[in-house]
Amino acid sequence: MPTTHFCVHGHFYQPPREDPFTGEIPNEYGAGSYSNWTERIFNECYQPNAQVGNFQKISFNIGATLLVWMEKHHPETLKSIIKQESLVFQRTGVSNAMVQPYFHLIMPLASERDRNTMIRWGIKDYEKRFGHEPKGLWLPETAVDKGTLQALADHGIQFTILAPWQAKNPQLDTTQPYRVQLDNNKEIIVFFYNAFLSGEISFNPSASENADTFVHDWLLPQSELLQRGHEQLIMVATDGELYGHHQLYREKFLSYLMDGAVEKTGIEHYFPALWLRDHTVTQTAEIMENTSWSCHHGIERWRNVCGDAPSATWKKPVRDFLNGLADAIDTLYEIHLRDLVHDPWKLRDAYIDVLLGTTSLDDLLASHAITTLDSTQQSFVTTLLEAQFDRLRMFSSDAWFFYDLDRIETLNTLKYAAHATGLVELATGINPAYGSIDILARAHSEVSSLTGDVAFLGYLKKFEMLRQKK
Ligand SMILES: [Zn+2]
Repeated sequence: MPTTHFCVHGHFYQPPREDPFTGEIPNEYGAGSYSNWTERIFNECYQPNAQVGNFQKISFNIGATLLVWMEKHHPETLKSIIKQESLVFQRTGVSNAMVQPYFHLIMPLASERDRNTMIRWGIKDYEKRFGHEPKGLWLPETAVDKGTLQALADHGIQFTILAPWQAKNPQLDTTQPYRVQLDNNKEIIVFFYNAFLSGEISFNPSASENADTFVHDWLLPQSELLQRGHEQLIMVATDGELYGHHQLYREKFLSYLMDGAVEKTGIEHYFPALWLRDHTVTQTAEIMENTSWSCHHGIERWRNVCGDAPSATWKKPVRDFLNGLADAIDTLYEIHLRDLVHDPWKLRDAYIDVLLGTTSLDDLLASHAITTLDSTQQSFVTTLLEAQFDRLRMFSSDAWFFYDLDRIETLNTLKYAAHATGLVELATGINPAYGSIDILARAHSEVSSLTGDVAFLGYLKKFEMLRQKK
């Protein structure tokens, strides 16, 4: 029988929880003995998975916002994760780490310019941490359309992972990857994960109690069922937080699964870049646009009511408000910077180097300025760049994922929006939210009396108070 290969991909990510006014995560409700959720999940998942060496056994991606947090609060664990990846890279010549757009934006809902900035920032962040360029990119919520795949290919990305129902052909054989043809003679390779096994590991705790049992009762039957006479790759893709946080101690299950249980049966463990190193991809597939792995109504979950959250009428006004705000901020950004720098949008793309600490702000401004900027002009440009940072961060998909408006993730998004608004008003004297704030009054919580405009204006007031104190 032709060889079966097995791969687990873990998508590790936390919503940005930092208060934009302080840069720190405030104490969060419900995180138990930990001060916030990221810290709690670190202790339950990221650290134990690093300790048992899982980052050299699986395919993974870690969102940049989580990497930034870990570098600041737990640098030793981040070092261990990077070391594990580099052992794989040295051994195989290819990486088991994929990149992710810098913020967790639903890419089909983002403008083309935002999409490109997020891909560029993500790639820069990855290259700084791992010391080589990424070949694969994990899309937030695996949300996809042709424009997004085109943008990935244009940035040199070779492959991504999608859910099988994101292929046009519902009968598609998921045990091999496919070429997806794009414009300009470009293409991208898509691996479709095994929905049955991924669902069992994610949602059936008994599937992940014992790795040997999983191999015998779940994996081997799938391997035989799917066998079509060619070498096959069976891929499980889940949230990384499953292993230890959603289900306690599953880092041990994962570790033994990938380092003993699977190999005993003659199945080899693999990861996408290694498959591409050793195999030619011959089949082609087409994708269903505007689909994702976690909303069964395409991408509606992040912009409107859908069957996953049928009463969440706040989602559309929040999305519409942020789109209007982003347009107003961008217009002011362009008008005010076009006489100062060569290309305001190239400047925004390059701002990641300052965020990563690889370039100083002075050097960045000097290399983009049309003529030498005086100190007032420098601080003016800097303020508008800081506003762009939160104007991008405010689109993090977490804001729309849950059922109610009155939740940390949605309120954080309104905080980022208020911070961006306050900075732009401070620099230009014009409030970019002025024309769209009414839309936000239509967004209301069902569990409290909170409405979007009240929350947003409260954060804007806080921004002004903090400014006056300075
Ligand atoms: Zn849905």
